[in-house]
Amino acid sequence: TLDGCASELARADTPETAPGQNSQRPVLRERGQREVFCGLTGIIWLHRKMQDAFFLVVGSRTCAHLLQSAAGVMIFAEPRFATAIMEERDLAGMVDAQDELDRVVNRLLERRPDIRTLFLVGSCPSEVIKLDLAKAAQRLGAVHMPRVRILNYSGSGIETTFTQGEDACLSALVPVMPASAPDAAKELLIVGSLPDIVEDQFTRILAQLGIDKVGVLPARNARDLPSVGPNTRYLLAQPFLGETAMALEGRGAKRLDALFPFGAEGTTSWLRAAASEFGIDEALFDKVVAPGRERARIALSKLRPQLEGKRISFLPDSQLEVPLARFLQEELGMELVEVGTPYLHRAHLARELDLIGPQVRISEGQHVERQLDRVRADRPDITVCGLGLANPLEAEGFTTKWAIELVFSPIHGFDQAADLAELFARPLRRRDLLEV
Ligand code: SF4
Repeated sequence: TLDGCASELARADTPETAPGQNSQRPVLRERGQREVFCGLTGIIWLHRKMQDAFFLVVGSRTCAHLLQSAAGVMIFAEPRFATAIMEERDLAGMVDAQDELDRVVNRLLERRPDIRTLFLVGSCPSEVIKLDLAKAAQRLGAVHMPRVRILNYSGSGIETTFTQGEDACLSALVPVMPASAPDAAKELLIVGSLPDIVEDQFTRILAQLGIDKVGVLPARNARDLPSVGPNTRYLLAQPFLGETAMALEGRGAKRLDALFPFGAEGTTSWLRAAASEFGIDEALFDKVVAPGRERARIALSKLRPQLEGKRISFLPDSQLEVPLARFLQEELGMELVEVGTPYLHRAHLARELDLIGPQVRISEGQHVERQLDRVRADRPDITVCGLGLANPLEAEGFTTKWAIELVFSPIHGFDQAADLAELFARPLRRRDLLEV
């Protein structure tokens, strides 16, 4: 119950697409202490995706520790990310931080000729001393272009949470995407970083449908950016890319409205949006898509008995919460108790919200104490939350799922649908075994 909770109950804004009633449902807005990773975390998956890019965090030892622990022990001889550590002298303004940064960047680029795109990534400390990384990127770019393109974005915990780091990084790439020719034919752009294997599956299906001009952002080679213009139709692969979407629309691209590609139905809806836009015949669509959809449905039916009727709460973390909740409810029969998300993009999530039952509590933002109180009152069978909250909740007897695992695992598309369901089934099985 929300009784006694001082949070503001606000009506959602009107989405740009034509939604049903549910996307305009009341949303519980929370503002308070947050327990979420900062946007630097995105570097962990982005550096694997863009193989000619390097991420230089301009930050403190804390930022370096975060990256190292989030990346596990994978500190190789030639890593593709690093932290330029700001010492007390920098923070106290005793040295010119811009000069220091130039020195570090010049040394790095001299030692590493394989770097073709360098991201200067802002952090809390660089923001606090108002170190202008946009200016630094421009100045250093003038020296190192065309060999190295230098861009900047912020991954600071003041400005970004967790997956917003990817949004900030991709929106920094949009202005340097080449412009498509004025008379260019319609092209499809997939937006959001996906594991290569999943990206290949999608491009293969799209090619079978006859859509073979497909660009991907981010590209595996960051210098090999797809072109963009009024002929671009884009499909979001991730629900946390609001800024990137806005930047693409600023360059004339149009979003194709669909469910996000999780589960058999989400993936079908996502592919169908492309097929309809590109005038693909319905019979061909069914022929190409049916085998994957059937495989996913059969694989999910095996896991359904373990998940059906189980009650689940999401604490706000990765912004994947709403589409994942829709998938668990629609395709596995789970009962949603609360779906919390750091930010709710009403237009991008309108279709997802339409499918989530009106009795489900949707919350946006975080007030960690209140949310934990609600988990204690609701007593869901499983709670999806960040690492810092999982252990204390487990100690109180709750079964939890780490949200970060959902970001690091291949979960999109038909062939990953059962793996995605399995991520939720496993903690419940473990709980049952422990209880026995
Ligand atoms: Fe911490 Fe801020 Fe550095 Fe993130 S950017 S690790 S929140 S100091």
